[in-house]
Amino acid sequence: MRIAYLGLGAMGAPMAATLAAAGPVRVWNRTGSVARDHAAAHGSVAFAELLDLADADVICTCLPTDVEVAAIATVLGPVLAAGTVWLDHTSGAPAGARDVAAQLAAHGVTYLDAPVSGGTDGAARGALTVMVGGDAEALASVRAVLDIVGDRTVHVGDVGAGMAVKAVNNALLATALWAASEGLSALAAQGVDPVAALEVISTSSGRSFATERLIPERVLPGTFPRTFALALLAKDVSLARGVLDDVELAAPLLHLVDQLTAAASSELGPDADHAELVRVVERAAGVELRAHGMPTTGD
Ligand code: NDP
Repeated sequence: MRIAYLGLGAMGAPMAATLAAAGPVRVWNRTGSVARDHAAAHGSVAFAELLDLADADVICTCLPTDVEVAAIATVLGPVLAAGTVWLDHTSGAPAGARDVAAQLAAHGVTYLDAPVSGGTDGAARGALTVMVGGDAEALASVRAVLDIVGDRTVHVGDVGAGMAVKAVNNALLATALWAASEGLSALAAQGVDPVAALEVISTSSGRSFATERLIPERVLPGTFPRTFALALLAKDVSLARGVLDDVELAAPLLHLVDQLTAAASSELGPDADHAELVRVVERAAGVELRAHGMPTTGD
């Protein structure tokens, strides 16, 4: 199977590396040097021109939003052979996925939205969860590819359903992170050691990915590694709000989380990691959630 991977960012690069470890993979990136570096580091084959990928059997994309995917599909779609499967790992809008699927279907190409969860470490370990929307037969034909990048693939419905599930998942992540930041900041302001509070919460019913992983691993040591941009999380929460709005569900909680996350992203800027939204709550509370004796970033 000739596989091409387009978009070698924080997620795409380790996913393509995992594929390259299992077999031949062609890679393309807007900034061409990134693809050449990937080839040198992981044994993939760098392509400079999109149109040279015309004979691929499977096209994988991992770009910021469905807008960038649509732009690439406009260029590449017409030259792909009928029967090609397009696996889109981008977290995009469900309606955008349906538009790209229709655009590609005109050329006989089957589009599956296949966003992923598990972060950059999950991508590096080939341990992602993949949520797929689209044709079941096409999914069966590329399941072997998904089994390399992930350890769980779930077919969640028609085209766009994968995007909708991903958006709601990430809105839940943001909600838990905001709530944990507020609760822990209030406790810290009252003199409770956040490490002790987390030891309780992470083995109790209030636990979440925020309390079990993000805050202990990123906030308490003050390292805030940049693996998933806050701007991308804000995009996902906004997409989830769109999913709710589509069915006219009054959802005051997720509307508020959408506003808070968008404001935090504007305040902290495009380089902020998603876990840094904690800083907004810390500033308001006048505390820093840092483990005693551990280094802080100093700001
Ligand atoms: P990055 O910002 O690290 O990478 C973005 C990639 O898209 C780069 O390869 C970039 O190329 C490329 N790109 C940006 N704009 C364009 C354009 N106009 N045309 C062509 N290529 C473009 O993002 P991530 O890898 O973090 O995220 C990618 C997708 O995966 C997003 O939808 C995100 O929400 C989702 N995701 C991210 C996770 C994470 O932990 N990071 C986890 C799960 C999903 P260039 O090098 O030229 O800038």
